[in-house]
Amino acid sequence: MTAAGRLGSLTPHPAAILVLSFVNTHAGGRGEQLEDAEGLRQWLSAAGHPDDAVSDADAATAREFRDALQTLLLAHAQQDASPLEEVAHAEARLVRIADNAPLCAVVSREATTLVPARNGLWGAFGALLAAITELDSAGLWQRIKACRNEICHEGFLDRSRNASAIYHGPSCASMVSMRAYRQRKKDSR
Ligand SMILES: [Zn+2]
Repeated sequence: MTAAGRLGSLTPHPAAILVLSFVNTHAGGRGEQLEDAEGLRQWLSAAGHPDDAVSDADAATAREFRDALQTLLLAHAQQDASPLEEVAHAEARLVRIADNAPLCAVVSREATTLVPARNGLWGAFGALLAAITELDSAGLWQRIKACRNEICHEGFLDRSRNASAIYHGPSCASMVSMRAYRQRKKDSR
């Protein structure tokens, strides 16, 4: 199926749901959900990778992983406006995560899927990396974006026909244009 065909489907893409549920643990003006071990434990069990042994240091690693992903999602929404250095830093961080989250290719007659080789926390990180790979194969990775409104940064799947959305919804689009309008008025005084 083409990317556009998949977008037209009413069923949300499971890989997109997983990635967005992770990225949106600190977005949209909500508080930090991965503040400590307890917050991480809750996210892991909701994501189907329960791990009771995680620590506050693991929560810090999870936040680093998430923030690196958010940087790339913002780059998807900003076309060429993202600082290259920031993007390179985020990509390097993702390589370090991937080093500890190996994936196995499971090949069948119908399809090949990547599954995490580890359990618990690093299994969840592997599942996120596998989900991103799957989204990329489906032509959807560039459409996973973070809202450009700086007080929002909510992750979303851009379902627009020409992949041009930069805000996660109309409320952020109007907030940003209102802010720009006020700024122009102030500047012209
Ligand atoms: Zn937004």
